[in-house]
Amino acid sequence: RAKDTGKNNVQFYTMEMNASLEEKLELMDGLRTALAEEQFRIYYQPKVSLDTGMVFGVEALLRWQHPVRGMMAPDQFIPLAEESGAIVSIGEWVLLTACRQARAWQLGGLAPVTISVNVSARQFDDARLVMRVQRALELSGLAPQWLELEVTESLIMRDLQQAIAKMRELKAMGISLSIDDFGTGYSSLAALKSFPISSLKIDKSFIRDLDVSSDDQAIARAIISLSHQLQLRVIAEGVETVQQRSFLQDSGCDDMQGYLFSRPVMPEQIQGMLEAQGEALST
Ligand code: C2E
Ligand code: MG
Ligand code: MG
Ligand code: MG
Repeated sequence: RAKDTGKNNVQFYTMEMNASLEEKLELMDGLRTALAEEQFRIYYQPKVSLDTGMVFGVEALLRWQHPVRGMMAPDQFIPLAEESGAIVSIGEWVLLTACRQARAWQLGGLAPVTISVNVSARQFDDARLVMRVQRALELSGLAPQWLELEVTESLIMRDLQQAIAKMRELKAMGISLSIDDFGTGYSSLAALKSFPISSLKIDKSFIRDLDVSSDDQAIARAIISLSHQLQLRVIAEGVETVQQRSFLQDSGCDDMQGYLFSRPVMPEQIQGMLEAQGEALST
C-alpha cells in the first residue's frame, strides 16, 4: 500500500509508526510502576443464572487508571504487559485483590458468590502459578470452591498435554476452571473432553448478531448441547438484549453475562446487588 501513496504520504506513515512505537514504550514504562503507584482497579461483572435470574458469580475485569490517559480497558495494555512480562505480577495482584474482595463480601454476611479471574498465556506458563493461587487463597482466607480461573482455548492448545497437567494441579486445589471465548480457538472435541473444566463460555462474537444470524443461532445451540453432553455448565457472554436472553433461555443455556443485566461495576455496586438479592430472598 505504501507503494502508491507518494513520498509525502510515506513519510507521514512512518511518523505514525514511530508515534505508536513511542506510545507503546511509554505505556510499557508506565506499567512497570503502575502496581506500586496503585493505579489498577478491578471492576466486577455479574454472572446470572438464566433459570432464576440470580447473581451466582462475578468476573474480575482489570482497568488501569492512567495518570494522563484516564481509565484504560485491558485490551489497551494487557498485550503490552504480556510482552514485557509485567502481567505476572499484575496478575498476582488481581488474584489476591479479587479473592480478598470475595472474602470481604462473605464476611459482610452476603451469600457467597464465585469469583472468576482471567489468566493469560504468560501467567499460565509461569512455573509458580499454582503456588501463587494457593497463596492468594491463604492470604485472603477464601475457600477454593469460590475461585474460578478463566483460560482460553488457544492458550490450552499451544501445548495440550502440559496445559491439561497444569489444569489438573489447579483443580486438585479445589478451584474450578472455565474456558473463555469458546468457539474462537480451535480445540478438537477429543481435546475438550479431556479438559478438567466445569464450564464453557460462548464467545460474545456469536451472541452479538444472534437475533438476525441463523448461523450464530446454530453455533450457540451446538455449543450449549456440546457442553451439556460433556456435563459442563454453559454461559453466554456479551448478552445485551432481551431477545438474545430469550433465545438462550429457550435453547437451554445455563447462565449469562452482559450489559443487559449489568456492565462491569465497582465493588460497592456488586455489594448493593447482592444485598438486594438477599433481601428479596428473605421476604
Ligand atoms: P473476557 O474475559 O472475554 O471478558 C469479557 C469482555 O467483554 C470484558 O471486556 C467485558 O467488559 C466485555 N463485556 C461484558 N459484557 C458485554 C456486553 O454485553 N457487550 C459487549 N460488547 N462487551 C461486554 P474488558 O473488561 O474490556 O476485558 C477484555 C479482556 O481483557 C477480557 O476478555 C480478558 O481476556 C482480558 N482481561 C480482563 N481482565 C484481565 C485480568 O485481570 N487478567 C488478564 N490476564 N486478562 C484480563
Ligand atoms: Mg473472561
Ligand atoms: Mg470472554
Ligand atoms: Mg473476550
